[in-house]
Parts: sequence; C-alpha cells; structure tokens
Amino acid sequence: MTTTASLIETEYRLGAHNYKPLDVVLSRGEGVYVWDMEGNRYLDCLSAYSAVNQGHCHPKIFKAMIEQAQKLTLTSRAFRNDQLAHFYEEIAALTGSHKVLPMNSGAEAVETAIKAVRKWGYEVKGVAEDKAEIIVCSNNFHGRTMGIVGFSTDPDARTGFGPFAPGFKVAPFGDIDAFREAITENTVAFLVEPIQGEAGVIVPPAGYFAGVRELCTKYGITLILDEIQTGLGRTGKLLAEEHEGIEADVTLIGKALSGGFYPVSAVLSNSEVLGVLKPGQHGSTFGGNPLACAIARAALKALTEEGMIENSARMGERFQTGLRDIRSNIIKDVRGRGLMLAVELVPEAGGARKYCEALKARGILAKDTHGDTIRIAPPLVITEDQVDWAVEHFAAVLASA
Ligand SMILES: *Cc1c(COP(=O)(O)O)cnc(C)c1O
Repeated sequence: MTTTASLIETEYRLGAHNYKPLDVVLSRGEGVYVWDMEGNRYLDCLSAYSAVNQGHCHPKIFKAMIEQAQKLTLTSRAFRNDQLAHFYEEIAALTGSHKVLPMNSGAEAVETAIKAVRKWGYEVKGVAEDKAEIIVCSNNFHGRTMGIVGFSTDPDARTGFGPFAPGFKVAPFGDIDAFREAITENTVAFLVEPIQGEAGVIVPPAGYFAGVRELCTKYGITLILDEIQTGLGRTGKLLAEEHEGIEADVTLIGKALSGGFYPVSAVLSNSEVLGVLKPGQHGSTFGGNPLACAIARAALKALTEEGMIENSARMGERFQTGLRDIRSNIIKDVRGRGLMLAVELVPEAGGARKYCEALKARGILAKDTHGDTIRIAPPLVITEDQVDWAVEHFAAVLASA
C-alpha cells in the first residue's frame, strides 16, 4: 500500500540524498494552500523558493498550459513557433528590456549571462583574450552548475567539486568600498542578487546599489542583477531593482516566470550584451519552446492583471509588522521586503529547523536556512486573514520557547 511512510522510505532508498525535506508528502495545491496525502492542509510559506508566486495551480495558467499542450509543445529553435515573438514582446514591454534570451532553469540563465558578458568584454570593451573578470558577492546563490558553484563561498556548495573555472572575484555583499577595490581594467561584469535570498534574506544597506550603478557606469562594467528569486512581484515591486531606483544592464528571471508549471527562465538585456551572441554560439533544445512561452505569458498576465504585485507590497508590510510585534526572547531579527521575509533566531534557540517542524504541526510550511533563520515567502495571493492567522501561529511557536 502507498503510505506517506512508504513513499519516504522509497525516496530514501532510491534517491540521492542531496536534499533533506520536511517529512510531509504533498499531493495537491490550490492558491496559498497545499495538502498532504492524509488530507491535512498547510499554508505554503515557501512557494517553491518563490516559483509559485501566482499561487498553486493558478487556473488561468493551467488553462494556457493545457491549450498549448494540445496544439504544439516543442519545435526546437531550428524552426520558429508562433508563441516566442509574443513572449518577447510582452516581457520586453513589461520590463523595458530590449533583448531577451529564453532558457529553462535559473542556473542556465546565469550561465548564459556569464557567457554573453565575457564575449561582450572581449568584443566591445576590449579586454585581452581570456582575461575577463566577473565580480560576485560573498554568500551569493546563483544555482548549482559547475560554473556557478565555482564562485560560491558556501563550503557545502563547492567542497569536493573542483577544479573550478577562473575569472571570478569575490567581494563582500553590501560593501561599496570593497566592490570599488575589486574593479580592474579586466572587470566585465558584477553579478549580484538585489536581496540575498538563500543567504537568509539579506537586505543591503541603503545606497549600496546606487553606488554600484554609478561605479558600473563609470568603469564600463555590466551590472547583472539575478532577480530569479526577488523578481516578479516577490518584494512588492515587479523587479527588486525598483526599490533601489536603479536599472540593471542585464536582468535574470526564472522561477515565477512560469508560476510553477514548468521551468522557464530568461536573460533580459538593455545594453548591447546579448547582441554579441551569434548563431551557433549558444542555445538550448527546450529554451523558448511554445509550451514554455504560452505558460510564461499567462503567468505574467496573472501577476500583473490580478494585482499580485501590489498585494505583495501590502501583505508583506502587514506580515512583517505582525512578526515584529511578536514578543519573544529568541527572535534576533525580522527583515525582508514585500513577501520575501525572514525571522532570524538567537543561537541559543537551538536552530530554526525545530520551529519549522512546530509550524508544520500547526499547518504552516516554512523553510529553515543557514541554521538560525526561518524564511517566509507565501504566494503573492495571500489575504489579510491568512496573514493574521499565520502571524498568530508564528507567535505561538516562537513565544513558547
Ligand atoms: C533559485 C535561484 C537560482 C537558480 O535557479 P534554478 O532554477 O534552481 O537553477 C539562481 N539564482 C537565484 C537568486 C535563485 O534564487
């Protein structure tokens, strides 16, 4: 018989152990809620790392997916399809980008940007062959490919996986002087997250990104913002760069670009960077396929036409205020923007994992990160009542300690 326990046992026996999930086996989702095999309901406070901003199984995205799947799913880019141009037009209009390159996973979008920006460095900026440098930040998270883990500073992400590709320099996140010092004549790009999500929702000091933008413009450095997690409404704006009053040269999006239905990512560029890629120099069998494009178009439409970005700003404010009002001696910090939130616990609390287990027992799924931090990122369709309900349970779990 298929039981929760038997599925967990089978996963453990046959699967690689590269994740350590909470022991809840989900079988259904709708809006902000998911249900396990026993029919218990949970408020999803992770949203698949912000891939289901539009809520689980959004009916309009579902409809677009089914309709497109019945017509045409994959052509490869050897031929054209009737969805790609519409996707380009809509994403470009929404974000003000001039060029778009569609990929599948977030990591692929990051890799694509790295390739493009290096080539741009040689062909446009005039950097000597194989000398291009890209500055990244400490505690960055940009994905799991060999190229990306090579410039991670997280020992778990990189230890044992070398040798790694050269050409990356690490500067502390949020430190404008350190960024300035890392710049050389060979610097082609700065790759950075507007808010570091995996690092524990680290919001940079005010003015940091204005300074970064100024230095990038001054020294001809391509500013690449990885908005794969912060983008598409998560922080209460379409893109998190809007909080900083700046514009990136290259923006990476993924995750919620499909509302959780399919892997869809994209490199958006408002400079000449993507222009250096010529036929045969980059590609992907599934990138830009008609099913992906149809899903992404519906996902973007849901996000903008149903007021989800505004709701993210309002509910985020309410959620954060509610969390700040909790009286507890184990809360060290509450931070975030929009519905990208985190509660950091004091070390004496004994780690965030057990509080996530306690929340699970009360019908809330949240993720511990870096030991002492609970990340909170519900779908952007969450209501006031649902926020208040969640805050009550966070208060009960954190105050009882
Ligand atoms: C999730 C994430 C990625 C990687 O996306 P995948 O689809 O998992 O490859 C890259 N950057 C950031 C900021 C992310 O949150």
